[in-house]
Amino acid sequence: MPVKPEPIILSQNGGGHESPDGRVDLLGLPLGTLERILIGLGEKPYRGRQIAEWLYARGARDIAAMTNLPHALRSKLAEGYRVGSLREVARRETPDRRTRKVGLAIPEGGIVEAVYMATSRRYTFCLSSQHGCGFACRFCATGRMGRGRNLSAGEIVEQALRLRRELPPGVTEFNVVMMGMGEPLENYDAVMGALGHLTGAPPTGAGLPPKRITISTVGLVPQIMRLADEGHRYRLAISLHAASDELRSKLMPVNRTFPLSALIKAVEHHVQRTGRRVTFEYILIEEINDNVRDAAKLARLVAQIPCKINVIPYNPIGPGRFRRPSEERIRRFSEYLVPRVAAVTVRYSQGVDIGAACGQLAGAVEEPPR
Ligand code: SAH
Repeated sequence: MPVKPEPIILSQNGGGHESPDGRVDLLGLPLGTLERILIGLGEKPYRGRQIAEWLYARGARDIAAMTNLPHALRSKLAEGYRVGSLREVARRETPDRRTRKVGLAIPEGGIVEAVYMATSRRYTFCLSSQHGCGFACRFCATGRMGRGRNLSAGEIVEQALRLRRELPPGVTEFNVVMMGMGEPLENYDAVMGALGHLTGAPPTGAGLPPKRITISTVGLVPQIMRLADEGHRYRLAISLHAASDELRSKLMPVNRTFPLSALIKAVEHHVQRTGRRVTFEYILIEEINDNVRDAAKLARLVAQIPCKINVIPYNPIGPGRFRRPSEERIRRFSEYLVPRVAAVTVRYSQGVDIGAACGQLAGAVEEPPR
């Protein structure tokens, strides 16, 4: 007899996404829900914990792989449930394979992208939180797609679990940046659900330290406050990109709702509550925000905040009036900041050539020929 999923599952944290075959994705479900599902199947709750271990600690791709579950239980479970709901439909890699952009189809169609990045020092996965984005930042390819839908906790954690399988043998540590498609803090519950599975204590979680995770936001003030007040220990990055309301509102319409004064207050609150410094991301766009006067405004704006400024030379996203400044202008801008701000880095995005860099993700990868 087919197993009827309990109705409660579908409303949990965006997890338990129902796939086209009608089976419910086990990825993203809270541990308590897994236990209840197993109880519903006449099993002991510890079976739910075993499944969580397979999903997050061991990275099982399907129910059949869960070999410490009795065969009959695996078959019964597989009638109503599955592991994962994304399908890899495209992939671009740099010749050295250090940057890999993976296109993953969501069940109803459409592609979200996840990026694997290796440097000599670390591995970082850039994950998407939404398909599309409704914030319409002028410089961002995802912003041009328009509002799409929230990804479920399962769809978010699945991106990380898939990329984890690509780590070289013996490597277990990685970083996660919520800097792919979408605005993570607009999809708060699902993002927290997914990150909870990644940071959960093994064996039922993947055991990643929270400091290895960075959440990047356009600056949603209420959610920044909530993040701080709930005691999450993730790193916070703010997409700032301009140090005056006038310019920021032009580049990022969200600034009309949450202007700089409110944003800075929320960031200060977050720094106080978490004891972690914040990162301000600042895309440098030629003649728009890249002269030394802009740098001076920026230094004044963040003067009281323990922070790092990440200067990101603009990555081209097709025809438009924005350009990346010359090396000379990038150098002058950052050199002005260095003595005035605690930490400044210039981030040359990896993967510009394969459209995998900051701001370039738009799910526009083509399906490979069949
Ligand atoms: N919505 C969140 C998460 C996406 S992060 C946020 O905006 O923070 C993507 C990062 O890439 C952000 O810092 C974004 O501002 C930056 N970005 C967007 N377009 C870019 C471009 N064309 N060149 C360089 N960085 C860009």
